[in-house]
Amino acid sequence: MSKVLVDRFNRVHDYLRISVTDRCNLRCVYCMPEEGMTFEPEEKLLRFDEIAEVVRVLAGYGVRKLRLTGGEPLVRKNLVELVRMLSAIPGIEDIALTTNGVFFAAKADAFKEAGLTRINISLDSLRADRFSLITRGGDIRRVLDSVAAAQRVGLDPIKLNVVLMKGINDDEIEDFLQLTLSGRVQVRFIEYMPIGHDDDGWKTKYVPLSAVLERCERMGWHVQPHGEVYGNGPSKNYRIEGAPGSFGLIHPVSDHFCETCNRLRLTADGNIKPCLYWSDEFNVRKYIGDDEALAKLFFRALDVKPQNHEMAQALLGASQSHVPTMRRMSQIGG
Ligand code: SAM
Ligand code: SF4
Repeated sequence: MSKVLVDRFNRVHDYLRISVTDRCNLRCVYCMPEEGMTFEPEEKLLRFDEIAEVVRVLAGYGVRKLRLTGGEPLVRKNLVELVRMLSAIPGIEDIALTTNGVFFAAKADAFKEAGLTRINISLDSLRADRFSLITRGGDIRRVLDSVAAAQRVGLDPIKLNVVLMKGINDDEIEDFLQLTLSGRVQVRFIEYMPIGHDDDGWKTKYVPLSAVLERCERMGWHVQPHGEVYGNGPSKNYRIEGAPGSFGLIHPVSDHFCETCNRLRLTADGNIKPCLYWSDEFNVRKYIGDDEALAKLFFRALDVKPQNHEMAQALLGASQSHVPTMRRMSQIGG
């Protein structure tokens, strides 16, 4: 067995995204229906010691970066404790969190002290009423408090995730870009993805991210590629000339970034997913405690990792080579 997690296309995997729960306190329109969600019973979720075991074995094969996500990771009790356990694992250098920001402010110091290194906060509108509509009831003040708390404890740069939706928030592109002119924040515009949706509603709201660069041009803003922000993720990064902040474009649909994919995912119920989009999954639970068997499972997952995800074919209604997942982003860990 190789000592690094390399797949058939020579992609080396050093990054694990961990979904700690499929539950959430919000119901964002692009992510969950308003009612009728069913969640995993608590006993089906991996315990913190089980997650730490999986990470310890993966760290032995070169995984260095982790991201905790969900669902909303902060609805899982004592998440700070998990951060502390993971940051103590030899080889782990970077622990990031993706959160809706509602519960983070009060815990910012504890997270930082436990070893959290970076944070992404989802914020799809800067207007309180609109934010409440998109999240179905979220209070923007709590999210803005969390952004301020993250800044105060030194999680820098803070990344703000914005899913662009036609007719819903695409008139705020300029307002979000203005944030990069006034502070050291990175705004990440994300294309609406056809993940786990049982209807085609996303097609009418999909906005290609070329709209962001067009807006900069219309504003007369000179945009430069920006390579400094840490992370070799899917984001193409730019900076408006003279701005302290930057912005990133994440276009999984129109311009996939699969050639450089370095990530594996661990679902809350213990499945390794080699690709966000396809349905292949490998359950770790029965192998925990047997390092070699667990490692073999990771390599089996890598063996079926496809060259790319073919989401664009879904947009065109064309046929695809694999079976897309029926799980939602909140279950996979977006
Ligand atoms: N609850 C946390 C949050 O909202 O940041 C973490 C989980 S959420 C599933 C992670 C990210 O996935 C968020 O930035 C969210 O906006 C994004 N997301 C969810 N559904 C999406 C979709 N259909 N297309 C694009 N992004 C999506
Ligand atoms: Fe919850 Fe995040 Fe999904 Fe919104 S995007 S419903 S905050 S999991």
